[in-house]
Amino acid sequence: MPVYLDHAATTSLHPAALAAMTDALVRTGNPSSLHGAGRRARRLVEESRESLARAAGAHPSELIFTSGGTEADNLAVKGLYWQRRAESPERTRILCSTVEHHAVLDTVEWLERHEGAEVTWIPVDGSGVVDLDVLARELAREPQRIALVTIMWANNEVGSLQPLRQVVELAGAVGVPVHSDAVQAFGAVPLDFASSGLAAMSVSGHKIGGPVGIGALFLRRDVKLVPVQHGGGQERDVRSGTLDTASIAGFAAAAEACAASLTEESVRLAALRDRLIEGVLQAVPGAVLRGSPGSGRLPGNAHFTFPGCEGDSLLFLLDMAGVESSTGSACTAGVPRPSHVLLAMGLDEETARGAQRFTLGHASTADDVETLLRVLPAAYAQASKAGMAGHESSIQTAGTVGRRAES
Ligand code: PLP
Repeated sequence: MPVYLDHAATTSLHPAALAAMTDALVRTGNPSSLHGAGRRARRLVEESRESLARAAGAHPSELIFTSGGTEADNLAVKGLYWQRRAESPERTRILCSTVEHHAVLDTVEWLERHEGAEVTWIPVDGSGVVDLDVLARELAREPQRIALVTIMWANNEVGSLQPLRQVVELAGAVGVPVHSDAVQAFGAVPLDFASSGLAAMSVSGHKIGGPVGIGALFLRRDVKLVPVQHGGGQERDVRSGTLDTASIAGFAAAAEACAASLTEESVRLAALRDRLIEGVLQAVPGAVLRGSPGSGRLPGNAHFTFPGCEGDSLLFLLDMAGVESSTGSACTAGVPRPSHVLLAMGLDEETARGAQRFTLGHASTADDVETLLRVLPAAYAQASKAGMAGHESSIQTAGTVGRRAES
């Protein structure tokens, strides 16, 4: 069996999620129907909503089911922008960090191109953490024109946690709502929507051991947004579409399992991660750990740049040796591109191309880490022999084919 070290892309279904889904899939009933089958489905949806809300420190009425993190991000950013602009037409500014996932980044850029948004990018430091001084300065500049701030809870590539408490305090002082993409943080670190002060927060099922294709937006009860999707008026008329009962049940079961073992699991994963980091830095002396150190990063994330090699070559060589990892960043139909996150952190393109991300999850073991450490030196030696070959032609063809896929 290959060793899977890409849990940030998607993690395996938790046994409790599988059981809950199997049970729900053999039943019928639309949760919006009034007959017995519909009411039974509705009950399961509402019980699941309660479990998920408990796991996120939210009230059940604050949860809007979506098809995943991408949809939740789109709904939050577009919906808040349209709502705030409708309330006051001059509110067209969006403050967004430079290291957001493309689900937020591209949404913000779309609003800029098509809806008259004016985006202010909030830079990050060398660890990928937002610059609070710049944020404070930008919030002080024409705050009446700011529609929203959007800053992720934890970065999906380098794992750095963001200073959200300060972000919310600064934005709250000038009455600006904050959205946070918590897709990588939910289920991995303690997170409490009620005390966070956030207006909206996105989460996703398949990152925590639930199924792919389900997610949620937590939306504070006093916050309104314009729906993106119209139809049957489900989810408080904010997100129309028949609810996916089985996926919702699986998502809730996974969230309950994560919440029940959050403390022990984060300690266990952080210990595995630290062993992995120590081992990689020993095995490849030129490797550099990227992102915040220790408790400033997700417990299951280790991200490095390896000098003189192309991240994709290393990925393929590790894969051949039985270890599945990721470069952590965008790829356009197989053409490697340097990560926008690493570039925002101040790395040059060549260094950024040597990126490799190893992420651990509920199924990870100490043996997984030792296997990586055993095969890494040879894979790295071979990848560096290939060096940056093909790099020039990659640059020329990048952007001309396919679409990026990022996790
Ligand atoms: N936001 C972050 C930080 C992510 O890591 C991902 C995962 O790819 C997403 C959003 C998108 O979530 P989903 O795959 O559920 O659409």
